[in-house]
Amino acid sequence: METQVIDQMGRGLRDLRISVTDRCNFRCTYCMPKEVFGAGYRYLNRTELLSFEEIERLVRIFAGYGVRKIRFTGGEPLVRRDLEQLIRMVLSVPGIEDVSLTSNASLITQERAASLYEAGIRRINVSLDAMDDQTFMAINDVGASVQSVLDGIAAAQSAGIAGVKVNAVIKQGVNEHAILPLVEQFRGSGVILRFIEFMDVGNHNGWDKSSVISSREILKTISEQHPLEPVDANYHGEVAQRWQYIDGAGEIGVISSITQPFCGGCHRARLSAIGQLFTCLFASEGTDLRAWLRDGSTDDQIDQRLRQLWQRRDDRYSEIRFTEPMANRQKVEMSYIGG
Ligand code: SAM
Ligand code: SF4
Ligand code: SF4
Repeated sequence: METQVIDQMGRGLRDLRISVTDRCNFRCTYCMPKEVFGAGYRYLNRTELLSFEEIERLVRIFAGYGVRKIRFTGGEPLVRRDLEQLIRMVLSVPGIEDVSLTSNASLITQERAASLYEAGIRRINVSLDAMDDQTFMAINDVGASVQSVLDGIAAAQSAGIAGVKVNAVIKQGVNEHAILPLVEQFRGSGVILRFIEFMDVGNHNGWDKSSVISSREILKTISEQHPLEPVDANYHGEVAQRWQYIDGAGEIGVISSITQPFCGGCHRARLSAIGQLFTCLFASEGTDLRAWLRDGSTDDQIDQRLRQLWQRRDDRYSEIRFTEPMANRQKVEMSYIGG
């Protein structure tokens, strides 16, 4: 039976993002810099990760609050073995209508795309921050080419995965020159391109305010070449602001976590690969759901504790990030909870 749960700011719990691994085949400098995530880094081992059965059990409980959408992320979700099996298990949970992925797409071969489609994937968000190899390789830091990502996107589309979006994080001094090439690549292609303001997630990405290129600047750059007009949100709480080319070449989005925070519509919880639940992307601490799953707690007990947790939630970090007590506190790493 579904009963909604509401937090301190009147926000329900509608979508759940699940990180299925802390590993990745890229070392994006703003996410898993090699100095930290190098040879000596200790990744989680298999027994530390939530098992598929544990993830399915939690999804069943979350579905009871009205959660309909699940997104798998990482690290890189495609490096988790047998991901397709997990996708099928989660899609079979009553109430779950949509399972999608956030991926760097470099591992999506034709065969992989077909098996993802068969498992039920219809939507993938692909991260791609530049159209030239020099910039892209400097960002991913493992020599992955732009073509490897474009091939992954093409494979997904030809397998029938129609909902492909491309997300680009723009960072001052790194890839602002990539805005227009990305626009030219995806304009008119049916792929929705979205620009994300560089965020102060985690503790290792060297973020400061001056490294942010605002959505306003990005939209100005684009509209000087290709005039844009705003489009209404698809639903309340949609994170991206939508715009369309007035010549009919499709839609783009901007996600303005820094300059125009959207905490009031944040209905999202995030589950890390070891089963810690975070009620905000910028939280310092999560709640250890894995302990509950492994200590003999019943579904009802877990449900009660989760309800209390959400009811106490008052997170709105993006709205208060520039206030004193927020500065310099430890935050969970992006590769742990997956964006
Ligand atoms: N590996 C997958 C990928 O890259 O799509 C999924 C995980 S990755 C952590 C999810 C998203 O977070 C990517 O689109 C990445 O660009 C974004 N991201 C990582 N660090 C970020 C930051 N500091 N600010 C904004 N976005 C960030
Ligand atoms: Fe890997 Fe994605 Fe992080 Fe890049 S952004 S290092 S692809 S998890
Ligand atoms: Fe949600 Fe936290 Fe982001 Fe605000 S800062 S939108 S509460 S995740």
